[in-house]
Amino acid sequence: LTILGLESSCDDTAAAVTRGRAILSNVVLRQDDLHAAFGGVVPEIAARAHAEKIDLAVEQALAEAGLRLSDCDAIAVTAGPGLIGGVLAAVMCAKGLAAATGLPLVGVNHLAGHALTPRLTDGLAFPYLMLLVSGGHCQFLRVDGPDAFARLGGTIDDAPGEAFDKVARLLGLPQPGGPAVEAEAARATGTVALPRPLLDRPGCDLSFSGLKTAVLRARDQAVAAHDGLPRALRADICHGFQSAVRDVLAEKSRRAIEASPGITAFAVAGGVAANGPLRAALSEVAEAAGLPFTAPPLGLCTDNAAMIAWAGSELFAAGQRDDLTLAARPRWPLDRTARPMLGSGK
Ligand code: ATP
Ligand code: FE
Repeated sequence: LTILGLESSCDDTAAAVTRGRAILSNVVLRQDDLHAAFGGVVPEIAARAHAEKIDLAVEQALAEAGLRLSDCDAIAVTAGPGLIGGVLAAVMCAKGLAAATGLPLVGVNHLAGHALTPRLTDGLAFPYLMLLVSGGHCQFLRVDGPDAFARLGGTIDDAPGEAFDKVARLLGLPQPGGPAVEAEAARATGTVALPRPLLDRPGCDLSFSGLKTAVLRARDQAVAAHDGLPRALRADICHGFQSAVRDVLAEKSRRAIEASPGITAFAVAGGVAANGPLRAALSEVAEAAGLPFTAPPLGLCTDNAAMIAWAGSELFAAGQRDDLTLAARPRWPLDRTARPMLGSGK
């Protein structure tokens, strides 16, 4: 199956073409520059930029794949969850292309895109356990099929990527915060002890907002003691924060694996999966449980349209067809997608 995928649910305008498990093109037009001055994604700016760039992304994706639209079997598009103005840009574009060509449309849940990526990259067999850790999400999912997910737990407040971004802001580091905090932590010569939230409670739920407050306190103490934040201490705080995130994610992963008999592998995806020390810790947890560990390459961990094209091809193969009534959804919990999503997309 040759599938054109479109994605515009957050701050990346993306289009890609996959053929089977081959990625023929994967175009991501980033908006970081547009939002940098505001310290976060501004929905109106994102929506307008998506609307302006989505056609270009599609043109580039087809050109790089060396294909015409008519060479594709279907058009897959992220129909949610996300910033609604943004989601609409790709959905409208996909509907236009479908109407013009008669190609079938497949609405894809953005999170399913992340969750199915290890099948694209490593051909994992169902069921497997997926830890999805990104700027907006944090959850353990047992992936039973292209449209069958069971949620085992997740964050009760912030997502870890959001915490990395806020911590970077608190410490005067650039956005996105994850890579900045990781680079700073790599320079640390010491560490700052920070709490491991919810480790004392059973289950797979996580919390990151208290950790962020603890970083704020550590920063203020450092500033008060040194009349400013010394570079070395900033690195130590980053190290302490990253270690705390790593430890809670590793322990909760161990528990989620324990609660998932029969799984074939443990996979991690989402932007935070780019974090080196975290990947290393999760890989150890999988190894201790005797499971293969998969972390897709960085470019396929963060938002992209190849994962949407791939998820679309899995859903298309399973019989999903949407039409021009496909709705854009701001909210769309993954573990309740199984039935309602098949058919009209309503
Ligand atoms: P979602 O996919 O949930 O809608 P999103 O689009 O913000 O959210 P991604 O693009 O998957 O998510 O990931 C971006 C997030 O990943 C940001 O919060 C960023 O700080 C974080 N991130 C990226 N690289 C790293 C890293 N090396 N370490 C930790 N976090 C990272
Ligand atoms: Fe994402």
